[in-house]
Amino acid sequence: MFGLGKTASINKNVYFFGKGKADGGLELKNILGGKGANLADMTSIGVPVPAGFTISTEMCSQYYKDGKKVSDELMNEIKENMKKVETAMGMVFGDHENPLLVSVRSGARVSMPGMMDTVLNLGLNDATVAGLIGKTGNERFVYDSYRRFINMYSDVVMNVPHEHFEKEITDMKVRLNVKLDTDLSAENLKELVEKYKNVVKEQKGNSFPEDVWEQLKLAVAAVFESWETPRAIKYRKMNGIDDSWGTAVNVQAMVFGNMGETSGTGVAFTRNPSTGENIFYGEFLMNAQGEDVVAGIRTPLPISELEKVMPDCYKQLVDIYQNLEKHYKEMQDMEFTIQDGVLYMLQTRTGKRTAKAAVKIAVDMVAENLIDKETALLRVAPNQLDNLLHPTIDSKAQLKVITTGLPASPGAAVGKCCFSAEEAEERSGKEKVVLVRQETSPEDIGGMDAAEGILTARGGMTSHAAVVARGMGKCCVAGCSSIVIDEKGKKLTIGEKTYGPDDFISLNGSTGEVFEGEAPLAPADLSGDFGTLMSWADETRRLKIRTNADTPHDSEVARKFGAEGIGLCRTEHMFFEGDRIKAVREMILADNLEGRKVALAKLLPIQKGDFYEIFKAMEGLPVTVRLLDPPLHEFVPHTPEAQAEMATEMGISAEKVKARVDQLHEFNPMLGHRGCRLGITFPEIYDMQVQAIIEAACIIKKEGKDIVPEIMIPLVGTTEELRILKENAIAVADEIIKNAGLDLKYKIGTMIEIPRAALIADKIAEEAEFFSFGTNDLTQMTFGYSRDDSGSFLPEYVTKKILPADPFQSIDQEGVGQLVKMGVEKGRSIKNDLKVGVCGEHGGDPRSIEFFNSVGLDYVSCSPYRVPIARLAAAQAVINQKRS
Ligand code: ADP
Ligand code: MG
Ligand code: MG
Repeated sequence: MFGLGKTASINKNVYFFGKGKADGGLELKNILGGKGANLADMTSIGVPVPAGFTISTEMCSQYYKDGKKVSDELMNEIKENMKKVETAMGMVFGDHENPLLVSVRSGARVSMPGMMDTVLNLGLNDATVAGLIGKTGNERFVYDSYRRFINMYSDVVMNVPHEHFEKEITDMKVRLNVKLDTDLSAENLKELVEKYKNVVKEQKGNSFPEDVWEQLKLAVAAVFESWETPRAIKYRKMNGIDDSWGTAVNVQAMVFGNMGETSGTGVAFTRNPSTGENIFYGEFLMNAQGEDVVAGIRTPLPISELEKVMPDCYKQLVDIYQNLEKHYKEMQDMEFTIQDGVLYMLQTRTGKRTAKAAVKIAVDMVAENLIDKETALLRVAPNQLDNLLHPTIDSKAQLKVITTGLPASPGAAVGKCCFSAEEAEERSGKEKVVLVRQETSPEDIGGMDAAEGILTARGGMTSHAAVVARGMGKCCVAGCSSIVIDEKGKKLTIGEKTYGPDDFISLNGSTGEVFEGEAPLAPADLSGDFGTLMSWADETRRLKIRTNADTPHDSEVARKFGAEGIGLCRTEHMFFEGDRIKAVREMILADNLEGRKVALAKLLPIQKGDFYEIFKAMEGLPVTVRLLDPPLHEFVPHTPEAQAEMATEMGISAEKVKARVDQLHEFNPMLGHRGCRLGITFPEIYDMQVQAIIEAACIIKKEGKDIVPEIMIPLVGTTEELRILKENAIAVADEIIKNAGLDLKYKIGTMIEIPRAALIADKIAEEAEFFSFGTNDLTQMTFGYSRDDSGSFLPEYVTKKILPADPFQSIDQEGVGQLVKMGVEKGRSIKNDLKVGVCGEHGGDPRSIEFFNSVGLDYVSCSPYRVPIARLAAAQAVINQKRS
């Protein structure tokens, strides 16, 4: 019994609540579970809650430790508490004249909606049924409760499948020619009870248990066991919930919504969970019990109708919901039941909500003085924001879904089908196109950028199309295996129907749906509540947020999302667009320095133009440009056909192309001839790039605008590499600046992405004006995992808990993080104001951002669409650090 809080008394395993008093409260949430803690808390603050008791989550672990047995000690404690419930309710469990019925409800530390089991109306048998009829004079209600109990209990506790009971009731309704359960008479229900009992006998070979204590003991055991059902295990895995927590069991006096037309049951939210509007929201059903509202047997009425049917109850419910929201200072999701005109609350919890609602509720609650700005910032999950940044398919539109794939990148896209990247680039100026491909590859970047969205037949959530689309903030539906694509014949077939280059399709990247025709779109709204919340985040955070952007378009988008500079501009991405690849290939194929220089001279004006546009978009902000990084073989074709095509284009023999490509082959290209190693062996490449950067910056300067280019040298592992390349770069840059007669400031820094660089960061800092941690490569090289090949084993590593998470998604704080921390400390020990940032995928991951904040980085850089996410995560990092 460690860490349970001071109020937990030793050896107490069952906690009573009722008549305005409770043994525990919110502080005991870990052992009472969310439902139990809230029932206790509601009881204490005077909300009408039927009396009951909670069996602690520790008893769940104990149950498994004891070999799935409910111990005698626990049964004794349960019996003592049942006495208190009997006193509170004025009824007796199992009594033949005045029987108390109970519900047996699950409830873990965090809510796992619908994942575990509940049994209602427990305590009914032939004798108590007779007693209850005598007491209430309502035969129909009693038999309705009895048939529900036999059905639920048999299903949950005895493993008799629900469908057997469903069949009996459906057969009866057909025979009597009635539609609704409520149309069945007392007589009918009584007959149904007999049928249900027979089902149990047939299925199990023995009778339905009559002993109420046996019923209770087995139901408690069944709730404990529902913690281990496959669906509960899967839910925990998906939501990162600890398997060892276990569930509590709540045993609570029943109240009945099925007693007639002055009874009912419902579910309500204190605010609208989908829009966030501060309007009471919910549904109810008259003459119904528990699950009926959710089960969709009858169509429930909107909560506002309750005011007409039962005005007093409605008024009381409004009072309660307003009090609960004030008390918890959070939007609540509640269950209530009205028994013969008397209202009871059966559950309250923090309500789940959409991203839009989360933002609105957080901002509204600050205006209502319910919470402060810091709390509001903590109320929105950063990753949720992604949903708000993309145009969306207008939800009111009537559309035909033609197929569904993986929701690879959110947002929406509408356009005509287009079957190749070149065609997409060509047509996109004139019309809207959706790129439809088997799968995409690096050469398709330009076409992907030009298209409204991307649809692929193959590949998963981490396929090229998915990853690149998410980076671009472009809608993508991937792995849509039911479609057949004929790229050459330019057609797409789904079942019987075929779509060609003139046919419109629409994609919903948040659901994976593909629609026929043109769906109407609603734009993302970055002002309003979203803008307000973001401005609070900006006031709070310490980290600056930059973006990874390779094009003027990405730069503009990122700036609109609040980016404060570019942390990584990858020059090689520009090499793929249009005709440029030809000059790049010419440079690679050249036999000698002279040849390379001729080709580089063709690239110079193109790169200069690109940098100029990017600098213009980022006017006044820092822009970090990384010099060429990937191995050269990535730029040359590998299939014989493509090599032949390239040979013709360049007017040389196919053999020569093949020979050079073969020569470039490497066994481990990621550990091969790339990064600054290219700069050392082919200095003319880096010289050209530095020239392009500095000349572009000079033009900006001459136009009277401000820019601070930061030249970044990748893959440095030794001080000497950086020293040589820095010397070269300065020579080129200073000459240009001197000739232009301008006062242009620039910086030369390095990426820290090889573990050795982190280890000798103090020496490297002597040469560097800034550091940027390339955490993708750093993770790759620290673990010795190839990121591109890790898909075949990493998922299993995570399942087997060898690793807590995929280290390429969330930084491994223990290992890779230590290198980052050490790099920062060593670097700053030489230059105490050394600017340090991070530009890997991790720069947009909220958990990693929290870590980067704690080790004192100056900025994180992430893809444009993650900028708002990073702004919020950085604010949360500051608040959490302060509060811990
Ligand atoms: P879940 O977590 O799946 O919502 P619950 O334990 O909350 O399961 O119960 C399922 C349904 O039964 C809910 O509609 C709830 O309101 C109802 N219910 C639970 N306990 C009682 C009770 N003591 N009296 C009447 N209805 C109850
Ligand atoms: Mg519930
Ligand atoms: Mg790298």
